Amino acid sequence: MPVSRRRFIQGSTGLTAMGAFHFLPNREGFAMEQTGRATQRVVDAPLFIATWPFGKASCEQAVKVVQRGGSMVDAIEQGIWVTEADVSNASVGIGGIPNADGQVELDACIMTGPDHNAGSVGGLQDVLHPISVARLVMEKTPHVMLVGEGAKQFAMEQGVSPTDLLTADQKKRWEAWKKQQGAEKPEIDEDHHDTIAMLGLDAQGNLYGGCSTSGWGYKMPGRIGDSPIIGSGLYVDNQVGAAGATGLGENVMRHCGSFLVVEMMRQGATPTEACEQAVGRIAELDPKNLGNLDINFIALNKQGVYGAAGTSQGFKYSMADPRQSQVLEAKALSEKSIGPEGGNRK
Ligand code: ASP
Repeated sequence: MPVSRRRFIQGSTGLTAMGAFHFLPNREGFAMEQTGRATQRVVDAPLFIATWPFGKASCEQAVKVVQRGGSMVDAIEQGIWVTEADVSNASVGIGGIPNADGQVELDACIMTGPDHNAGSVGGLQDVLHPISVARLVMEKTPHVMLVGEGAKQFAMEQGVSPTDLLTADQKKRWEAWKKQQGAEKPEIDEDHHDTIAMLGLDAQGNLYGGCSTSGWGYKMPGRIGDSPIIGSGLYVDNQVGAAGATGLGENVMRHCGSFLVVEMMRQGATPTEACEQAVGRIAELDPKNLGNLDINFIALNKQGVYGAAGTSQGFKYSMADPRQSQVLEAKALSEKSIGPEGGNRK
């Protein structure tokens, strides 16, 4: 797909704090965001945003894929490959923290706006790129989600070669963790987990998304988090916008978090406002207090405006378009600082 010259007016994050927004149609029928004094910048499509600073390399790769003639689905898939293949990333793909039995179990999903299609895998072992298996589920089966052995069997039938995902370093850490069991250590590691959720907008205003994670460190075998659940870790609605989540999955999936963010945008919220409102709604219903929820959302609307918000200070996200790429600070809704990372929250 050729890169379009079409440009979107994009407001920077945090603009919602400045009050009123006015959306006016531009010449091409897309909306322009106008604010009194905020910096505005012009963005070319394709535009990608992703959770965490490590998502920047994935967003940059996604832009390149489209510039070289690839589709937006190729871009989401191959962008996420970058993070999945990074052995230093302890929460996605190879090098991910294993489950309590020392096995790396991966969750991933992909969604396409124009045909509202989706594919997903959960608890997948021995596969380097779960995002690709999610894509295969979407494209080659009548189903949306495959899990565990069945997902692995399907991947192998599709020609995926098995890969050992447990690195020597993670094996050593897991052995040390195992030894500590029964002492003060919790059975799962609430502090070590992250996800790449990536959202993309093409020159025609179509939306796409993907998500990939190894989930909570030392989780119970068979545990599946929010990330591969359509509407929880990721949701794409081609009429409105797309959203993705990262953080403690159980606190997202009990509330259909990403779907909620998209619904807030449907009701008129900007992406940052929608993320804030969704976190606020979850905090109202959830018995945990805001600072302990550890959930974060990113959102991108059909007009190319994007934003993010999380429960704690320090959540960052990334963006890339053909002109630039950067890491941005998300809006934080409590004073609490985000916990230690799976080695990636830098
Ligand atoms: N949401 C992921 C999970 O619960 C982890 C994360 O994004 O931090 O599996």
